[in-house]
Amino acid sequence: MTDDNGKQDSVTCAICGHTQHYSDFEEIVGTGWIPSYWEEDDECEGPVCPTCVQNRLKVGDDGEYEPNQSFLAELAKLRQRKAEENVVAIMRRWHGMR
Ligand SMILES: [Zn+2]
Repeated sequence: MTDDNGKQDSVTCAICGHTQHYSDFEEIVGTGWIPSYWEEDDECEGPVCPTCVQNRLKVGDDGEYEPNQSFLAELAKLRQRKAEENVVAIMRRWHGMR
C-alpha cells in the first residue's frame, strides 16, 4: 500500500548488505525477506535477505529464525576480532600517551 506512484524504495539486508529495490512493498513480501531474527533471547534487527535466510539462519524449536551453526561461528569470530581490535586500540592509546 503506497500512494507515491512508481517511487523506488529499497530494502537492505542487515547481514550481507544486499539491497533490493522495489516500487511496492507488496513486491518483496513473499519473496523470503524477514524483518528480524533471534540470537538466544536477543532480537536482531533485520531485514534479512532470502539468501541469508537460507544460508545463515534456521528455524528454531520455537518457530523463530535464529543463526545456524556456521553463522554462529561467523558471529563469534567477528565479535572476537572486534574485541581484539578494541584491545589493540586501547593499547595504542596507552602507548601514545607515554
Ligand atoms: Zn543477506
